[in-house]
Amino acid sequence: MACTMLAFLPSRLRASLLILLWLAASSLGGWLGYQAFVRAGLETVATAGNNRLDRYVVSLQREIDKFAFLPDVAALQPEVKALLKSPGDALLQSSANLYLQELNRRAGTLTVYLIGQDGHVLAASNWQRADSYVGEDLSFRPYVQQALREGRGRYFGIGTTRGEPGYYLTTTLGQGAQQGVVVVKVGLAQLEESWASVESPVLVSDENSVVILSNVPAWRFAALQPLDEERRSALEASQKYNRLSLNPLGWQTLKPLSSDDAFKQVRIEAAKAASADQRTGRFLLQSRPLAGTPWQITVLSPLTAALQLATSRAWVAGVLIALALLLAALLYQRRKHVREQLAAQQALKQANEALEHKVQQRTADLQTANQSLQQEVAERIQAEATLRAAQDELVQAGKLAVIGQLSTEVAHELNQPLAALRALAGNSQRFLERGQPEMVQSNLQRMADLADRMGQMTGQLRNFARKSVGQPQPVDLEKVIDGALALLESRIARAGAAVLRQPSMPGLRANCDPNRVQQVLVNLISNALDAMQGGSQHPIEIACLQTGDWAQITVRDHGPGLSEQVLPHLFEPFFTTKPESQGLGLGLSLSADIARASGGSLTGGNHPEGGAIFTLSLPLVDTLPLS
Ligand code: ADP
Repeated sequence: MACTMLAFLPSRLRASLLILLWLAASSLGGWLGYQAFVRAGLETVATAGNNRLDRYVVSLQREIDKFAFLPDVAALQPEVKALLKSPGDALLQSSANLYLQELNRRAGTLTVYLIGQDGHVLAASNWQRADSYVGEDLSFRPYVQQALREGRGRYFGIGTTRGEPGYYLTTTLGQGAQQGVVVVKVGLAQLEESWASVESPVLVSDENSVVILSNVPAWRFAALQPLDEERRSALEASQKYNRLSLNPLGWQTLKPLSSDDAFKQVRIEAAKAASADQRTGRFLLQSRPLAGTPWQITVLSPLTAALQLATSRAWVAGVLIALALLLAALLYQRRKHVREQLAAQQALKQANEALEHKVQQRTADLQTANQSLQQEVAERIQAEATLRAAQDELVQAGKLAVIGQLSTEVAHELNQPLAALRALAGNSQRFLERGQPEMVQSNLQRMADLADRMGQMTGQLRNFARKSVGQPQPVDLEKVIDGALALLESRIARAGAAVLRQPSMPGLRANCDPNRVQQVLVNLISNALDAMQGGSQHPIEIACLQTGDWAQITVRDHGPGLSEQVLPHLFEPFFTTKPESQGLGLGLSLSADIARASGGSLTGGNHPEGGAIFTLSLPLVDTLPLS
């Protein structure tokens, strides 16, 4: 959570903040732990303190109650009673003194004495001692006044004669003017001695908050709270503490643990302590009133050990919390790492799936494209086949057009031998009638020759007209030129033109369809004849040469050449400058197609010395002469 909140911070600052947070959380945990441990420690100490209080209260109560009946015992004694009635009787006083002495000895009390109506001591257990109370006026002593007032009394005080602290138990005896008081002074030194072995301080304070009993000797007769002057002078007057200075103890209350003043923490300074180690430091103060007395019994339980224990436990808790937080952070990091890894895997998986999907889609698209491409290819092949067929038809049509043009020449050419045949047949008839068979023989021979010649002419025409298979084959180009010239022979003759065959390299062979190459040459020579229609002394020049890997057939005429208007459209289909009856404008366009189909080319231009020149380039098969 904290990590998420700090995610926007730079990483170093975030790390520092996290460490601070970690330290703060551990310290807070340690501090809270310390508070809890201190509370628990206090409870333990308080329980032990309560137990101690119980014990001390019981022992103190027992110690006092042990002597409670003693004044009454003394008051019942006849000598005592008698002395009270006759205070001046020395015999009675002596026997009362003896009795009280014996009682005091046996009971183990400090002093037992009888006080008369006027407050003077009539008899005392210490009658033999120099500082005997006998004859002493004790009417000012509060316990005497209390006894006279209330019939019996209990009082703690320090003796005025010997300065010995003790507990005064009193009872009255007699009536009216003969009323007296029996006093038993009990020393509590024994009790103090039994407490002396107890390490923790214990004390009993009286109604003036003055310590009257304690196992810390230095604390005896110290005031728990400072006394004001008025109070101090009243106490001095009663000589309750026999002029002791009643210095304040000067405890420092650290922490009131409850509204009850009898349960608090105090610090005792070394100066006030009896021994530096045991009686100083922090203590838990617990007090309880002692029933039947105005006293308070107080125990002080040292807290140092409990606080040290709480401190060390708090340290351990703090360290454990720090470790736990560290572990939690590590676990969080680990889980986050695992989560991130899973997310990355998921993202990778999704990316893979998306990629796969894309690949499938693309494959499907490609398949579709491939299919349509295949279809297109098939359509193209089909179109190409159709085109080729159309082209073939066109070539054939072009060829037929040439044949159409040649047909006049052929018919004219055939007329001559036909007329000769007619004449020879008529002559032969007359020679038969005249009986000249040798002449008939000679005529028949001439007729056969003429028929052969006519057959040759029609044969060439038939060969040319035949639809070519279009398959390329090694072709002797000289023979192809010969064939074209033979086909045009009569036309050349009629036009009065001449053809000059330039010396060629013999045996040049190209890979082509001979029938079609012949068609190209017929076209070129026909065009040359057309161009030179006006008449020229120069012949049409035909050459067949090798240039690199190419065989080049050139047809040059001496006509007007190719004009600027004609040149750009030379090879366009249906471009012609000739009248309708003479040209369709397909000759050069088809010739160029044929050259291309054979893997070659056809170019046309003007010869530098005048006239047009066309070059047909065809790939050579090899340069070896034909065998
Ligand atoms: P056609 O001969 O039916 O006109 P061609 O395609 O053979 O068709 O020729 C196209 C045109 O090219 C001709 O009409 C002519 O103007 C021009 N031409 C072709 N050969 C020659 C040439 N040898 N000299 C001058 N012009 C030519």
